[in-house]
Amino acid sequence: MAEWIYRRNARTFEEMNNLPADLREKLSQEYEVGRSDIIAVQRSQDGTIKLLLGLRAKMKDKKQKRNIKNNKLKDTVETVGIPYVDRFSCCLSTQVGCPVGCVFCATGMGGFSRNLTAGEILDQVLAVQEVANRRVDHAVFMGMGEPLLNYEATLKAIRLLNEEMGIAMRHLTISTVGYVTGILRLAKEKLQVTLAVSLHAGKDELRRRLVPGTKFSLKEIVNACKEYLRETGRRVTFEYCLLDGVNDSLAEARALGTLLHGMNCHVNLIPYNTVQGLGFGKEPHKAIRDFREILENSGLQVTQRVQRGADIDAACGQLRNRFK
Ligand code: SAH
Ligand code: SF4
Repeated sequence: MAEWIYRRNARTFEEMNNLPADLREKLSQEYEVGRSDIIAVQRSQDGTIKLLLGLRAKMKDKKQKRNIKNNKLKDTVETVGIPYVDRFSCCLSTQVGCPVGCVFCATGMGGFSRNLTAGEILDQVLAVQEVANRRVDHAVFMGMGEPLLNYEATLKAIRLLNEEMGIAMRHLTISTVGYVTGILRLAKEKLQVTLAVSLHAGKDELRRRLVPGTKFSLKEIVNACKEYLRETGRRVTFEYCLLDGVNDSLAEARALGTLLHGMNCHVNLIPYNTVQGLGFGKEPHKAIRDFREILENSGLQVTQRVQRGADIDAACGQLRNRFK
């Protein structure tokens, strides 16, 4: 049955035609496969697809079912499929909304409803494969929610993605806003997954303003990342979303350079996807270049994320907000 669900995208027991008919019938009466509903699909010119999924777990009552028909259901999550020449990556959500409330993030703006189950996380990969008709071979936990605040389900999903769907651990990336306890716990699992940590500031004062929902200092976060590197041998990625006139000063870049100096890591500069109503702007190219240069002069390896799906509601939480 796992073969049918994980590898062949079955949505019903009836499809599992190598099982005896009476068993299929019995299963259908007592259980459901529990796949989410695909509420909306957006397709970018660059091939990126973005799906809005209606979750099933809480859809037992009639009111919820009515709401989903009217596209007003709160229990919806987004997932994105990003095709590259040599791979197909899926961006996964781990929570409905997010309790951290970063001030520039569309998901943070939408509030928090609940954690996803491991099945609901996995289901996103199945839905993307179904719509794109292509196997997912990489997954990044960079959709809605904070994975390390839903630790058990995230870990279970990681193991299932690896064992049942054949995605290599090294092709899985967990992005966290920097939950030190979660990072240290993950380090002890000694998995080969990539850890990406969203910093967005070089100094604590600015970080507290941008990421109000965490109490950890930058130093504590970086120390936890060093522990992750020691335990797993995996180089950590730091994400920095550049917000025009907010966290792009050269002083902030220097502070970040000092903070990460000498560490075996990699900084990924993310161009901001403007979210209506939040008041933040995208960084001009020249400012990104200057910021990058300072980091490189501190000996850091820096890359710039290529923006994908710019013509659809690419930033997580944007498509969902549209359906509210
Ligand atoms: N909660 C986790 C993972 C989900 S967010 C985290 O914060 O890391 C994944 C990444 O998307 C984070 O680096 C986040 O800062 C970034 N992000 C959020 N909103 C964005 C936007 N509008 N434009 C670009 N990146 C955004
Ligand atoms: Fe949550 Fe990440 Fe958005 Fe912050 S950036 S609100 S942690 S999803």
